[in-house]
Amino acid sequence: MSGVNEIRSTFLDYFARNGHEVVPSAPLVPRNDPTLMFTNAGMVPFKNVFTGAEKRPYVRATSSQKCVRAGGKHNDLDNVGYTARHHTFFEMLGNFSFGDYFKENAIELAWNLVTKEFGLPENKLLVTVYSEDDEAHSLWRKIGLPDSKIIRIPTSDNFWMMGDTGPCGPCSEIFYDHGPHIPGGPPGSPDEDGDRFIEIWNLVFMQFDQVAPGERLNLPRPSIDTGMGLERISAVLQGTHDNYATDMMRALIMAVANLTGVDPDGPQGVSHRVIADHLRACSFLIADGVLPSNEGRGYVLRRIMRRAMRHGQLLGAREPLMWRLFPALKREMGEAFPELGRAEALITETLRLEEVRFRRTLERGLAILEDETRDLREGDRLSGETAFTLYDTYGFPLDLTQDALRARGVGVDTEAFDSAMQRQRELARANWSGSGEAATDRVWFGIRERVGATEFLGYDTEQAEGSV
Ligand code: ATP
Ligand code: MG
Ligand code: MG
Ligand code: MG
Repeated sequence: MSGVNEIRSTFLDYFARNGHEVVPSAPLVPRNDPTLMFTNAGMVPFKNVFTGAEKRPYVRATSSQKCVRAGGKHNDLDNVGYTARHHTFFEMLGNFSFGDYFKENAIELAWNLVTKEFGLPENKLLVTVYSEDDEAHSLWRKIGLPDSKIIRIPTSDNFWMMGDTGPCGPCSEIFYDHGPHIPGGPPGSPDEDGDRFIEIWNLVFMQFDQVAPGERLNLPRPSIDTGMGLERISAVLQGTHDNYATDMMRALIMAVANLTGVDPDGPQGVSHRVIADHLRACSFLIADGVLPSNEGRGYVLRRIMRRAMRHGQLLGAREPLMWRLFPALKREMGEAFPELGRAEALITETLRLEEVRFRRTLERGLAILEDETRDLREGDRLSGETAFTLYDTYGFPLDLTQDALRARGVGVDTEAFDSAMQRQRELARANWSGSGEAATDRVWFGIRERVGATEFLGYDTEQAEGSV
């Protein structure tokens, strides 16, 4: 059985043999792209190559791109620990054609890799196509798939757009059926969100240029962008439907179990999974230069760190935990990603300090949360005022509070939370005697709202489409 690290190499070697340039992963913070919080798909570093704004010395490329989906349009934070297939940090394997090969080759290359190189049984595979894409449908028929295994999807799920304008086109996704013992329906069915039929690979056929709303031209040289989750294909190849049961994630989960002494397969297993996932996201974000702060990217990192710490607390950890898990991560991923070794001191120190600082208010905040929710039943909501106090005084990001109540089916009154936040801002402005100079005051308020008592909510920032 191959480990995750070998599976990554198999993918890259296969495409290298087929004429693709192996391109190292770009950083998680996108270069020159203020519209995007984090790199969230393999195509992000190639955006300008697809539009033609940038030329590279190759027309085919392959990569295993570090991705984070924990903010903006693609936010899988709330899925982590609850689905078998979502992470906040994951690797997206991809092959790209910049005006070189198109649909037919892309489908052939993907099918050969999956069925021959990886040896997956054909009868477990099914695909989706965009309902209007008859060409893709007939190409899959030509490959040998029966009609019943080619599902036409009429929604935007199977039509990709880079933005309101620019390259766009239909997608075709490859799914693996993990079998009837796992709940979930096939793609396009009402219960498609289960983990039985798992999307492993998304092939995007960039064939149009959206020049204006409602106006689409054919691209003279159509392109290919694909994305396959390394953790998902690894799960399939290792005979499990669960990403968290792959050798790499399991090693991290066992590190959590060893440090806390809590059974990872018992009722508290969700916490092990969340911590293992968040350890990767936090460490890689720090390695790429993100530091915890109260706004923007830094606040997303802080939210992930604090969520992980609460789960550490649930497992009974009384000492900072995350930094002690880092060596396990370095063992698993340090060879493929040397930045982990280079940034080791910064990562461990940042993890440790943040945990030391937050621990003081975490315990007090959790006691308040406990008091305030003792009488709440499933379906009830915590008052927005309390959630705001936890946020403002105890440093609880809203999603941490929501995550803490989720297991009991208790929600949070987020409208009241938002108004409490708004009131606090207005109050701060009203109390400000000021310098009398409007421009200076604005600057000061900008700063106070960013780094002051309130922790600015960076996670509503809208992201442009970056995904495949
Ligand atoms: P899903 O529908 O399962 O959420 P997606 O359609 O959002 O996946 P894409 O944007 O098409 O995913 O990304 C391409 C591939 O990256 C997916 O087919 C999947 O293998 C992988 N992937 C996407 N999101 C995640 C995630 N949060 N964790 C792990 N792998 C992911
Ligand atoms: Mg998704
Ligand atoms: Mg999908
Ligand atoms: Mg997809």
